[in-house]
Amino acid sequence: MRIAERILPGKQFLSLEFFPPKNRSDWPVFFQVVEKLRAVNPLFVSVTYGAGGSTRDNTMEIVTRMKREFSLEPMAHLTCVGATEQTILSFLHDLTMVGVDNILALRGDPPQDAGVEVVASKDFTFASDLVSFVRKHYPSMGIGVAGYPEGHPEATSLDKDLQALKLKVDKGSDFIVTQLFFDNSYYWDFVRRARQLGINKPIIPGVMPIFSLKVIQKVLS
Ligand SMILES: Cc1cc2nc3c(=O)[nH]c(=O)nc-3n(C[C@H](O)[C@H](O)[C@H](O)COP(=O)(O)OP(=O)(O)OC[C@H]3O[C@@H](n4cnc5c(N)ncnc54)[C@H](O)[C@@H]3O)c2cc1C
Repeated sequence: MRIAERILPGKQFLSLEFFPPKNRSDWPVFFQVVEKLRAVNPLFVSVTYGAGGSTRDNTMEIVTRMKREFSLEPMAHLTCVGATEQTILSFLHDLTMVGVDNILALRGDPPQDAGVEVVASKDFTFASDLVSFVRKHYPSMGIGVAGYPEGHPEATSLDKDLQALKLKVDKGSDFIVTQLFFDNSYYWDFVRRARQLGINKPIIPGVMPIFSLKVIQKVLS
């Protein structure tokens, strides 16, 4: 089911984001944690996608297991930088085969050790290109996109960044998940500015507990 249809006006909810463990040997513990966290009854669970598709198979396997074994509503993150239309179509096809109805459509960042093959494809430039592509080929897919209360690091201004978000919404995304922030006023100001610009989709605040300074620095860089 599309996540946007599960979000009911005025009803509070929470969702959870999972990073696939790097080592396969950590998967049993990972899924024990998933099982424990079912107790908080998340509206949906999302699974990140490694830069340049480096963890594509893990993301696919984990969303599949979350759906089949844990009866959760999964959303697969999907990045398009360096991807070909063919690899994106193949991923979307596999998702629909296992009954996953939602993606978080992202541009992503080229991996620091990107090889020729990764940077060669220019099929997609921005996340809005991915949103259009998914809407065209999979009209019933639920699509979330990323928003940045403090502005994306590459954006030349907050206004231009918000225009880029508006484009993603106009191309067919259903809701927005924000980058983490440490001062709620950034979030509320972002929501106010988005509404003024005519962005009327749900804006889900992204929250990340601090367990490592290194991780927080990497996310915000
Ligand atoms: C909730 C969340 C989850 C994430 N999950 C992942 C993940 O699983 N894997 C991963 O690799 N990364 C993930 N990221 C990080 C994300 O990939 C990076 O922040 C990336 O740099 C931008 O992706 P985007 O989809 O926001 O790009 P875009 O929306 O394309 O924006 C990128 C930049 O381009 C600008 N821009 C956009 N459109 C235009 C245009 N038409 N003209 C000019 N400028 C434009 C924007 O202002 C912005 O500065 C996540 C981020 C968030 C907030």
